[in-house]
Amino acid sequence: MGMDVYGKHPANDEGTYFRNNIWWWHPLAGFLTETYPDLTGDCTYWHSNDGDGLDADGAKALAAALQRDLDSGAVAAYAKEREEALAALPMQECGPCEGTGVRTDEVGRRFGMDQPRDPVTGQGGCNGCGGDGKVAPLGADAPFSVENVQEFATFLRSCGGFEIC
Ligand SMILES: [Zn+2]
Repeated sequence: MGMDVYGKHPANDEGTYFRNNIWWWHPLAGFLTETYPDLTGDCTYWHSNDGDGLDADGAKALAAALQRDLDSGAVAAYAKEREEALAALPMQECGPCEGTGVRTDEVGRRFGMDQPRDPVTGQGGCNGCGGDGKVAPLGADAPFSVENVQEFATFLRSCGGFEIC
């Protein structure tokens, strides 16, 4: 599962095709729409495969803004802030063990998860949280990188407009 972005009138190979799997696509699309609302507003469906996109002028304008912010370090600053914000989110109670670190349901008993995890052997304990009783909040591990933004900017520059499929 992923997002395929096709160039409508690519000027070269770089503008033909861009792909992110969904884990990478949503943070990238979120960054674009939050940071550049004026430049991304002509595309309504950034987060689904509806074939929506930007025309040639729109893609070029967004590429220029991205490259400017890549070169200035603004994208790197965003990536760092995002990472820190996600790391600061409170951990959540693990569902399968209800925060206890051991699973006493049928599956848990069958597979020995109803005993606390042995720190030496690593055996036992809830398989949802590794016996900690806590898990990272949903979306906290979704990836985002400066390199991925650069790849998209390179695509945008020569795609001649694009469709998200
Ligand atoms: Zn658990």
